[in-house]
Amino acid sequence: MPNLVGREVRPPAPPAPGRPGGETMTGPLHAVAAEPGAAARESHEQVQALCGTWVRVVPVEDVPDDAGLCRACQYGP
Ligand SMILES: [Zn+2]
Repeated sequence: MPNLVGREVRPPAPPAPGRPGGETMTGPLHAVAAEPGAAARESHEQVQALCGTWVRVVPVEDVPDDAGLCRACQYGP
């Protein structure tokens, strides 16, 4: 597991009963290079993962142990 990972950010979903509106982070995790990842984590901006997907950096400690990386990030392009 890389030190920095991110999740793809989907457009905000409309609020529904029992579920607040707001952006949802779904899909596989992506690996983020250390330098841009650290900057993005500080600024809370999105950053491009190794595979090119725009993601928001999430703390590794918040990631389940069995969470998988996307194939491109895991095995390289
Ligand atoms: Zn990826």
